[in-house]
Amino acid sequence: MHPLDHTDPLAPLRVHFQLPEGVIYLDGNSLGPLPKAAIVRMREVVEQQWGVGLIRSWNAAGWVELPRSVGVKIAPLIGAEADSVRVCDSTSVNLYKLLSAALALNPTRRGIVSEADTFPTDLYMAQGLLAQLGRAPSDLTLASASAPLETCINADTAVVLLSHVNYRTGECLDMAALTALAHRYGALVIWDLAHSAGALPVALAECQADFAVGCGYKYLNGGPGAPSFIYAAPRHQAQLANPLSGWFGHANPFAFSAQYSPAAGANRLLTGTPPVLSMAALDAALEVFSHTSLAALRQKSLALTALCAELMQPLCERYGFANITPMPQRGSQLCYRHPQAYAICQALIARGVIGDFRAPDILRLGFAPLYLRYADVSTAVAELAALMQAEAWRAPQFNLRAAVT
Ligand SMILES: *Cc1c(COP(=O)(O)O)cnc(C)c1O
Repeated sequence: MHPLDHTDPLAPLRVHFQLPEGVIYLDGNSLGPLPKAAIVRMREVVEQQWGVGLIRSWNAAGWVELPRSVGVKIAPLIGAEADSVRVCDSTSVNLYKLLSAALALNPTRRGIVSEADTFPTDLYMAQGLLAQLGRAPSDLTLASASAPLETCINADTAVVLLSHVNYRTGECLDMAALTALAHRYGALVIWDLAHSAGALPVALAECQADFAVGCGYKYLNGGPGAPSFIYAAPRHQAQLANPLSGWFGHANPFAFSAQYSPAAGANRLLTGTPPVLSMAALDAALEVFSHTSLAALRQKSLALTALCAELMQPLCERYGFANITPMPQRGSQLCYRHPQAYAICQALIARGVIGDFRAPDILRLGFAPLYLRYADVSTAVAELAALMQAEAWRAPQFNLRAAVT
């Protein structure tokens, strides 16, 4: 045990997760582990609600309410007004809906501003939407080191699409400052919270953010392919046009009217029938957050990443790892550049330490404060040191690329 584990107020929360023996899991930022509550809930939903209740469960078991009721549980984790979050579809699809709605809310402007190194699906969705609207690809402007955001946002910017925590570098952007900057120019802001929700405090309402999306399967631990969450500030909801205007977003879906008429409030963000099994797993996974606070999660996350960075220092000097995470503005992950990052990551996984590789040369380590121990961090770095010393990454099996990295 590491001394910090003795005084860790979050240590009791680890038992809520089913973590395989002999594995140190530094990839909860990509796919959260299995919460024990989800196992119990899935069994109940499959065997009782589906198996016995059948179609009656849409009402009796509250299935039809899940997009809202799960959203109500996510709202405090992202600093959102209680009834302004819904759970539905994937992050990519929800981004499409919000980008389209935001452009329509700002019709005299053409531009979308994002970042060149944001998660690619965000850019792909923007590119696809522009093509569909018959607009020029150049309507999407990408900020980069040589063209900072401040120089990209202007009077023609309709919407700014930003990742709160960068998936590759781990940099956490200043939500309050950047939202205010965009608003000064009259632009709307969509925040992608994929790598922050569940790991650190987010204050959407306080920052006056316009819109947000995020993943259910990363730090929220909702399971592979868990549905995404979508947020629209209450002030925008009445004007918001969902381009995927399906019946679940209708004011009265079971009137089966031939004419679409959007629901009042955030329900208009919905499209079709919710994936009940996935929603139930995510709902159960969220229970653990009621045992702690975001401030406590953040404090531990910062301590875990600080410990890792400190222990990694000698490896950086000896083996050429370069920490590219801006430490003062870090999220809950650390990213090390190394020319052999892919093979090193595979060799590390073979030793029971699961991190991931991000092209072209990044070893990414995620630190989920709900279940990681400080001892896990020191063991992980010790395993990395041992494999570098033995040059274990040179083995051919560690140099073959799999489909998912
Ligand atoms: C993980 C991630 C996504 C994933 O989108 P899906 O539609 O769930 O595949 C989107 N954006 C960011 C920033 C991510 O990190």
